[in-house]
Amino acid sequence: MKPRMTAPGSAADSVWWSRALCLHPAADPTWWEHDGPGHPDGKKAVTWCRACPAKAACLADAERFERPQKSGERTGIRGGLGVRERAALYRRKDEADKAAAAAQDSGAAA
Ligand code: SF4
Repeated sequence: MKPRMTAPGSAADSVWWSRALCLHPAADPTWWEHDGPGHPDGKKAVTWCRACPAKAACLADAERFERPQKSGERTGIRGGLGVRERAALYRRKDEADKAAAAAQDSGAAA
């Protein structure tokens, strides 16, 4: 399994995927199959992600794909974050979106 979210060959894919460190010949794609840095190989993946020039785009791509999913459907390491870390990130963003919508609703009602 490779840590990709967008369809290979898509325009969005080609912009950042060519810079992905996980495609480096010295990187073993199986490192990214672990759900977090708790496993030694997952820790290697996170270390590589930290140095990856495509990290922000990779994480944004993962978010686009994963945020609507149930947490049990997410696997692997993306953008330097494990499954639990991404779930926490998406929860925080969902809560911020709800708070912003509630603030907008209460402002509109005033
Ligand atoms: S941040 Fe990690 S998973 Fe994402 S492209 Fe870079 S090395 Fe691959």
